[in-house]
Amino acid sequence: MCGITGYIGYRDAYPIVMNGLKRLEYRGYDSSGIMMFDGKNILLSKTKGKVSDLEAITENEKERKVGQIGIGHTRWATHGVPNDINSHPHTSQSGNLVVVHNGIIENYDTLRKELISRGYVFKSDTDTEVLINLIEEVKKNEQCMLGKAVQLALNNVIGAYAIAVFDQTKPDEIIVARLGSPIAIGIGKENSEFFIASDASPFIEYTKNAIYLEDEELAIIKVGRDIKVRKIKDDIRVDANIQKLKLSLDQIEKGGYDNFMLKEIHEQPKAIIDTYRGRMLADQGIIRMSGIDDHINKFLNADRIIIIACGTSWHAGLVGEYLIEDKARIPVEVEYASEFRYRNPVITSRDVVIAISQSGETADTLAAIKLAKSKGAFVFGICNVVGSSIARETHAGAYTHAGPEIGVASTKAFTTQITVLTLIALKLASKKGEISKSELRAFMQEMKLIPKKIETLLKIDDKVKEIAAVYKDAKNCLYLGRGFNFPVALEGALKLKEISYIHAEGYPAAEMKHGPIALIDENMPIFVIATNKGHYEKVVSNIQEIKSRSGKIIAIVTEGDTQVKEIADHVIEIPETEEALAPLLTTIPFQLLSYHIAVMLNKNVDQPRNLAKSVTVE
Ligand code: GLU
Repeated sequence: MCGITGYIGYRDAYPIVMNGLKRLEYRGYDSSGIMMFDGKNILLSKTKGKVSDLEAITENEKERKVGQIGIGHTRWATHGVPNDINSHPHTSQSGNLVVVHNGIIENYDTLRKELISRGYVFKSDTDTEVLINLIEEVKKNEQCMLGKAVQLALNNVIGAYAIAVFDQTKPDEIIVARLGSPIAIGIGKENSEFFIASDASPFIEYTKNAIYLEDEELAIIKVGRDIKVRKIKDDIRVDANIQKLKLSLDQIEKGGYDNFMLKEIHEQPKAIIDTYRGRMLADQGIIRMSGIDDHINKFLNADRIIIIACGTSWHAGLVGEYLIEDKARIPVEVEYASEFRYRNPVITSRDVVIAISQSGETADTLAAIKLAKSKGAFVFGICNVVGSSIARETHAGAYTHAGPEIGVASTKAFTTQITVLTLIALKLASKKGEISKSELRAFMQEMKLIPKKIETLLKIDDKVKEIAAVYKDAKNCLYLGRGFNFPVALEGALKLKEISYIHAEGYPAAEMKHGPIALIDENMPIFVIATNKGHYEKVVSNIQEIKSRSGKIIAIVTEGDTQVKEIADHVIEIPETEEALAPLLTTIPFQLLSYHIAVMLNKNVDQPRNLAKSVTVE
């Protein structure tokens, strides 16, 4: 996966493309590159490393920045190691055609051999260079325009792509196309300029009018003309659907925080309100969710609900399982999308599948959705990015409305996904008569207090920092929780691994005795969630077991707790709430803890090594 950006129009393209790359860096950041066209020549700058490394190269070389046409790329390598040569943009053999590509050309090896037999010599190890040479070969053989050549070439390609292609012999147009990876086109006033990007953030200050290409569509972008969109396979013209963007610039900038992750942790109270706004009418005791309301019988008649997701979304899915089974009494299973799609699962038209993904582009989740649909299941999506592939591929869904999440380690995505799942559980429970109107109203009133409670909790930052300072050099950590807080333990461990590179494991507290207890010694920090509702006494016994083996205990307890305070080395208090809502609070100290440990260890919090924000490859 990667970030693509481009510009064609009347302004200097360089700052637009370069700033665009910075905003898209969350999508990939092992190397980057930019092509400028100065009216006569293609100027390529590419380097391994971050966009800031690319900027450093181009900074003092004015001639590299000239021109009103430019395309750029920030890469997350799939074919060929991250190095200068494998960085995008890639040029064709003649040097005339230039491409940036997000995705994978699966049959690249066959195509490459074929092209080599026709005299092509490859400079890089990428699948992308194969694609641009294929386009060149088709263009030469068919003697056709660039748009046609791209279309014909893509018909021979197996895989996924979002591409932007430029031809210096016809420098008034850029061709873009997509299959499986997102691409948006921003439209300037009276078609005087166009912006190209993997999401709309690079051009939000220039225009609010955008087209999101659908899968298997190709667009010909020419200044002064309407964008022409065609279906790649069928070659039929489609009407471009111009959307009005609602995203604002300050939503995508750091807003005074040191990095995006901290900003996003602090945005959670607002993000949760945005998620339930208009859906949870607490005073009236009503939950309104059109995606559920319109298909309520599918849910009520379902044999079971299967939740599919990856990573943090899978943890949210586990909370969803506990919520839906507890409140609505419908059987729920939670599956890793990557396993589900390949393990020949039994799925019928009486199953409802809920797919969760922040980006809405997660490749495994997308494939699992397609599989479930092919077996007749009704598929409901929960994602954050509006217009994403999962939003389009599912029968119905609910957006989390968390706003852009840029930090690679998910925070507000997790809590807003849980918020949506809570609404679903309550909605189904009330429709099934499993919860009375007054219980529902009381629960919703409590839920309305959660954002304020998170705000209070965020003020314990200094305390968490102190704890982080004590345990930042630990080599291994354990996270324990029971019931609704078990998935929070998993998520806490994942956060720590992701950004501080400390090995951590999450476990159901009682399972500790079946293995992990052997790891406990005086060097092992163990983070235990011991809130007052649920299985408090049982967790206290687990804490005693740890204490007897000299483990260091950091406990998350409910305000006013006295029992755990006496045994634990450190305690963090969270406000009192409903048991089923506890994950929305207990996860906050873990997010802050991972954050502070990573900062103290000098790690790049927003862009941890080897990871990328949306995993659009399987
Ligand atoms: N497959 C291409 C490469 O490895 C593109 C990867 C990406 O999406 O960044 O260069």
